[in-house]
Amino acid sequence: ITSKLPDTGPSIFTKMSQLAARHQAINLSQGFPDFDCSPRLVSLVSQYMRAGYNQYAPMAGVIALREQISAKVVATKGVFYDPDTAITVTAGATQALFTVMAALIHPGDEVILFEPAYDSYAPSVRVFGGIPKAVPLLAPDFHVDWATVELLVTDKTRLIIVNSPSNPTARVLADSDYRQLVRIVRDTSCYILSDEVYEHMVYDGRSHVSVAHYETLRERAFVVASFGKLYHTTGWKVGYCLAPPQLTAEFRRVHQFNVFSVNTPVQYALADFLRDDHAYIALSAFFQEKRDFLIEALETTPFRPLPCEGTYFLLADYSAISQLPEQAFSEALTARHGVATIPISAFYHDTRNQHLIRICFAKKTQTLAQAVERLRKVV
Ligand code: PMP
Ligand code: GLN
Repeated sequence: ITSKLPDTGPSIFTKMSQLAARHQAINLSQGFPDFDCSPRLVSLVSQYMRAGYNQYAPMAGVIALREQISAKVVATKGVFYDPDTAITVTAGATQALFTVMAALIHPGDEVILFEPAYDSYAPSVRVFGGIPKAVPLLAPDFHVDWATVELLVTDKTRLIIVNSPSNPTARVLADSDYRQLVRIVRDTSCYILSDEVYEHMVYDGRSHVSVAHYETLRERAFVVASFGKLYHTTGWKVGYCLAPPQLTAEFRRVHQFNVFSVNTPVQYALADFLRDDHAYIALSAFFQEKRDFLIEALETTPFRPLPCEGTYFLLADYSAISQLPEQAFSEALTARHGVATIPISAFYHDTRNQHLIRICFAKKTQTLAQAVERLRKVV
């Protein structure tokens, strides 16, 4: 086979989770909670299964769920997306991202993304013959230089991918960033893919700013979200894509052949849960407490945390301990000290060593405390 992704092996999340299992390390690498979701949500799923909701859902998603998503988006973003024509339920955010690329990218099209970038973006672009154009963002503040972005925009630019709050930088884009983006794309025909899966994890009184808040962006944007993050159910793989009707029509043309439809009983359960349970409003406070616990506990270790404005990831600088490249350092930390994390270098296409690891803090306090106990011993 002539590979479409010849340089791509198992993802860094698979690699580090496997390494964690092999060494029985505390797994703070791949992003997922080590606590369970709401028991009520589980019983709703089983109720729907027992009631016979076990066949194909409609291609675009169960309408009750799309209506609840629409209501939530109005409540949280103040913007109306029509359940019939502008919302599609997907098999997690990953499938939504992939479907956007499949729908938009023609061979030779350029796609601007910001590095460090979530691992699926660039390979998904390349599968469809697109060319990723990376804007490097660097520690410690990962500031976006919009002049650099502007220089990269050409007639070939098909798509710009933004991700705020950002995995892995844990930074959020501000209103001023989005205004720059508006200025840059206003007179172009490029689309925006906005990965907002961490929209309900923003800290220190900040509120999430969505591309949907800016008309110039909204009319050309696909906004992607995930119930995995919202309800601590990463294994269920249900998310959604918001986009204006013309864009949604194009998205669904591909979606119907990519996955056709998504898990039926889970969609019904999520619709009920979303209607009655607005716990996501308190999600930022819930995770901020974990973030603060971890930051404070790290003070007793040689690891120096970087600012974390959103997501459930914290970056930590290990330069006081070692000058090893990040991948080698993460592997050694897993094997010798029993704590698995993610090297930030994995999110850049070129070689970099900023002595940074990503720690997932979507964990029980006890797990975080145990991990820090181990990190204290690293010298
Ligand atoms: N985008 C980002 C930035 C993510 O961090 C993740 C999950 N870690 C996803 C997309 C994928 O979400 P899902 O699990 O719903 O496919
Ligand atoms: N999004 C998760 C993370 O950043 C990983 C998901 C995956 O393994 N694909 O850790």
